[in-house]
Amino acid sequence: MKRLRFDGFFTIYHLLDYLDCPKKFYFRYLLKIPEKRISLSAITKKAIMNALNQSEKDISSILKQIKSQIEVMISSYREKNIDVIGELDLKSIEYMIEGYFSDPLLRYGKLIIKNEPFTFSIRPGKKRYWLKGKSGEVFLISKKDFIYLFPNFDINMLPNKDEIMIHRIVKTGVKKATSKIELAINEEISFNAYGLAFSDKKIVPDLHALYFLYDHIPYKDDRGIYLKDKNGNYIPCDIVKVPCKIGKKGEICKGKKSYCTKQKRGNVYYFTTRDIKRLKHIPREMMEICASIRKADYPRRAGILCFGYCGYKDICFKEAMGDFP
Ligand code: SF4
Repeated sequence: MKRLRFDGFFTIYHLLDYLDCPKKFYFRYLLKIPEKRISLSAITKKAIMNALNQSEKDISSILKQIKSQIEVMISSYREKNIDVIGELDLKSIEYMIEGYFSDPLLRYGKLIIKNEPFTFSIRPGKKRYWLKGKSGEVFLISKKDFIYLFPNFDINMLPNKDEIMIHRIVKTGVKKATSKIELAINEEISFNAYGLAFSDKKIVPDLHALYFLYDHIPYKDDRGIYLKDKNGNYIPCDIVKVPCKIGKKGEICKGKKSYCTKQKRGNVYYFTTRDIKRLKHIPREMMEICASIRKADYPRRAGILCFGYCGYKDICFKEAMGDFP
C-alpha cells in the first residue's frame, strides 16, 4: 500500500470519516477513488442543506430547487458510472422543510450568524494542526421565550442573563446522540464550539444544539409502537406493565384507549453545553485523530467484516485479499 500523507486543513468531515473507518478515509481522501455506489439519501441530504443555506424562504421554490438539484446530482453520478441506490421520498422532504421554517427558534429567536466559514488551529503539544469549519446557525433568544418554548429543559443549565445564545447544527438524518453523555462527547459539537470560540468569530454560545429535520416527519401509522403483542397486534394500554409516556401531550395516558392516536417523533432538539473550562481541553480530544491522519495511519477496522453499506467494499475486500495495486 502506498504511504500517502494527508496535507492541508482538517474539516470535521475528515475527522468523522477517519473515526468511522481509517481505510475508507484513505480510499476517499488520499487515493481519491470515487465510491461505486451512492445512496439517494446522501444526495437528498446534500440538496436539502444547500437549499437551506440560500436566503430563499418560499417553501415551494425551495422544494423545486431541492428536486432539481437532486436530478442534476443523480445524472452527474450516473455519467461517472456511480450507482444511485434508494428511492426518492418527496413527501418526507416536504415535511422536513416545513418543519424547519415553522421551527419556534427561527420565529422567536434572532439569527445572528448562518453558516459562515472559520479557520482555527489547535496546538496540544509541539505540533500545530489547522482546521476549517462552518459556524452553523447562531441565535439569540430571550430567556423568557426559551423557557416557554422548551418547558422540559433543565432551567439550572441556563446562564443568569436575559438573553441566551444558542448554536445549532442542522442535521437531516435520524438522531444518533440522545443521552447527555453522548452529547457531551459529540465531536461535531466540540469541533464547532472550539472553532467559534478560537477563530475570528470569538463567540462562546451558552447552549449547543443538534437539530434533526427528520424528526419533523410524522409516522405513517401514528399508533403507539410499543403497545403491541408478540404477533404485532395492538393491545389495550391497561395491560402494558410500563405506563406509556407517548400519549397525546407527551404525558402518561390516563385513559384506556386500545392505541394512541398522536405519537410524536423524537425531540427534534438535543441541547448540550461547552463551557470555557471544557473548551480548553478540546484540542487534546481532537489531537489523536489529527495525529493519526498525519502519520498516514489508515488501518482497516481490525477483524471486522463490514456488513453495512460502504461504497469501498469491493476495493477494500480486494486489498485484503492482496489483489489491489
Ligand atoms: S469495507 Fe469496511 S473496512 Fe473496508 S473501507 Fe469500508 S468500512 Fe472500512
